[in-house]
Amino acid sequence: MPSAKRAQSRRRTARHKHLLGRKKISRAALAVAARLREEGCDGLLVGGCVRDLLLGRAPKDFDVVTNATPEEAVRMFRRAPKFHARKIGRRFRLVMVRAKGGTVEVSTYRKGGAERRLAADGSGRILEDNVYGSREQDALRRDFTVNALYFDPAAGEVIDDVNGVEDVERRVLRCIGEPAVRYREDPVRMLRAIRFAALLDLKMEAETARPIHALGGLLDSIPPPRRFDEMVKMMHSGGAARIMARLREYPLFDSLLPLTSRCMRNRPGGFAARVVPAAMQNTDLRIRQGKPVIAAFLFVVLLWEPLQLALGKSRGRGGDSRFEHAADRVLAEQAGFTALSRHVCRRVKDIWALQKTLEHPPAAAAAATVIAQPYFRAAYDFLLLRAEAERELRAAASFWTEAQEAAPPAVVASPERKFRGRRRRRRG
Ligand code: ATP
Ligand code: MG
Repeated sequence: MPSAKRAQSRRRTARHKHLLGRKKISRAALAVAARLREEGCDGLLVGGCVRDLLLGRAPKDFDVVTNATPEEAVRMFRRAPKFHARKIGRRFRLVMVRAKGGTVEVSTYRKGGAERRLAADGSGRILEDNVYGSREQDALRRDFTVNALYFDPAAGEVIDDVNGVEDVERRVLRCIGEPAVRYREDPVRMLRAIRFAALLDLKMEAETARPIHALGGLLDSIPPPRRFDEMVKMMHSGGAARIMARLREYPLFDSLLPLTSRCMRNRPGGFAARVVPAAMQNTDLRIRQGKPVIAAFLFVVLLWEPLQLALGKSRGRGGDSRFEHAADRVLAEQAGFTALSRHVCRRVKDIWALQKTLEHPPAAAAAATVIAQPYFRAAYDFLLLRAEAERELRAAASFWTEAQEAAPPAVVASPERKFRGRRRRRRG
């Protein structure tokens, strides 16, 4: 690339100095980038971390990018003490480096668009993303301008080929390239657009937003496990309520949660319409308070009304078998849209099954046994949510609140472990 152009895309960030100070960046990421430079390669911070720093937010994690291939990078880190490196991923190969102060993902510059292998069915969907390229090509293959910024910690400069800094300052979310083409290449970008706009309080530029109305249905072509990952990422981001409201403006909500969507649409005064938004606000609050959240709980809430409809249809069966049958049917149907692991299904069913017990409080002595059950806490939280919509449950809710206060601490089930979804990264 001609040096004049390079000079243009590099910016000394006097204005941003306070935002990009070394103290704000993880030690591990700085060490990893420095190690790559020692070997004569590029070592830059990229993506969400640069965006978040420029927005004055604390990044979730720090990603490093380089011109070394994953194989070369692994060798470089193995030659140095104090680093531990291994390759991960198939669809998107990258290197996980453990260094003092944390773990850092190192990816190699990649090309995008036509230079990559496209789906055999000609839909334009990209199936594999391992064609390496230059840094400039790497910037253009990224999804949004605010996500295509690089920070060179050695020079203290931001590298910006796509006017991302200006978009950060104006708080605009803008696709790189032709939005419809980019959404066809990878329909998950539509969900990412909603997530970033809602969470980071960015305004979706009109051309970035418009095609989502027509193309939202393309999400159906994404494998259900990836849809599950994206959905949990959205709902556990701390902005679930806002994200869900935005998803519902497009055909995206229908593609992810058709059962819930149908209930919310058909019965505006029903359980889902009233309780789902409140539950999302509750999840957001828990995240702000640092309390644990689990994926199963989302589905407990989202699929409760579909479960009631299914129970209504399977009258005639005996109690337990009727519940099992209806619950399995609803979960299997949802799993076709967002894969649900056996573990998640088990938990959802346990929490649902406990509702009956909680609705009809036993004698005080027996309450302690119920409270000691592993999913009691989640089931109780769900009962509280239900009680907000159904007055007749309030007495039961108060009973369990008091019963827990009365129970010796050892009896109260330990809090649910924080959900830690396997981090699937495809396009660092
Ligand atoms: P978060 O704060 O959620 O981690 P992020 O921007 O870091 O946000 P990641 O999913 O961690 O998001 O991805 C890292 C970077 O990889 C993004 O900033 C973006 O540049 C690029 N990227 C990720 N997914 C895609 C995609 N589907 N299409 C194009 N680029 C992508
Ligand atoms: Mg990230």
